[in-house]
Amino acid sequence: MKHITEEQLEELRGALGAERDSVEEELATYGRVQNDAGDWQGSTSVDGQEPDPNDAADQIEELAVNVPLVEELEKRHRDIVDALEKMEDGTYGICEGGEEEIPFDRLEANPAARTCVQHA
Ligand SMILES: [Zn+2]
Repeated sequence: MKHITEEQLEELRGALGAERDSVEEELATYGRVQNDAGDWQGSTSVDGQEPDPNDAADQIEELAVNVPLVEELEKRHRDIVDALEKMEDGTYGICEGGEEEIPFDRLEANPAARTCVQHA
C-alpha cells in the first residue's frame, strides 16, 4: 500500500477505531450477542421478559425495524474489523475486486471500503 502514507494510514486507523466503537455501542443498544460465533441478533427492548399479549404487536413491529438495522450494523462492523485486520497484514487499501490500489480519497470517505469505485 505504497499509495497511502503512514500519516494517512494513521488517520484512517483512528477513524475506523472510532466508528467501530460507535457501531458496537449501537449493536449493544439494538441487539445482543446471539451465539459463540459473535453474530448479533435483533431484539426488542423487553427482551428476556415474558411478553404481554397487548404489547406483542408493538414488539413485532419493533423487531421488524431492529433486525434489518442490526444486520446493517453487523455488516458495517465486519467491514471495519476486516479493514483494521488488513492494516495489520499490510493489505489495506487494495481492492477486493481487482487487487488495484484504492485511491486515498475513497478511503477517506469510507475507510472500510473493500473495493475501488469500479468494483463497488
Ligand atoms: Zn477494483
